[in-house]
Amino acid sequence: MGYFKDIFDGGLSLIEGMGVTIRRIFRPLVTVQYPREKIPLSGAYRGHIELKIFEETGNHKCIVCMNCEKTCPSGVIKVQGEKLKEKGPKTLTGYVIDFSKCSLCGLCVEICPTSTIQYSREYELVGQTRDDCQFDLLARLAGQVERMKEEKKTQGIAA
Ligand code: SF4
Ligand code: SF4
Repeated sequence: MGYFKDIFDGGLSLIEGMGVTIRRIFRPLVTVQYPREKIPLSGAYRGHIELKIFEETGNHKCIVCMNCEKTCPSGVIKVQGEKLKEKGPKTLTGYVIDFSKCSLCGLCVEICPTSTIQYSREYELVGQTRDDCQFDLLARLAGQVERMKEEKKTQGIAA
């Protein structure tokens, strides 16, 4: 008796499963063909920090005050600056973070007096070693402009 009951239950389960599949065929897709298709990110998404590019200058506004480095509870920020002119402020020459230890607490974003740090929209990071999580944010600026253009394009397609 148990044998026939197992066959009956299996058949019923198959019909129920096919019913779900058939109902889904006629509903709009909720998935996209990633990575060929991408959906707009939520405004609340936080990627690793990056230097912000200001439209009026096309550059960051870091004044090498070191506030972010001193404030970071994880000690993962290393800011480097040089005085290129005898009189005048320091110029940023390097800005390295170790993203493997960043807790995304946001203190560096809040403490920056020129608002030149922001969360990136990056979500495709991959790495195989700890060194892959070290980013020089200054060196990254050029690629950042390209990524911003790509994101705007993606949002334009989705709109
Ligand atoms: S988000 Fe927090 S942990 Fe990450 S770099 Fe900024 S201050 Fe440090
Ligand atoms: S707090 Fe802002 S201005 Fe100061 S060193 Fe950090 S990024 Fe530069």
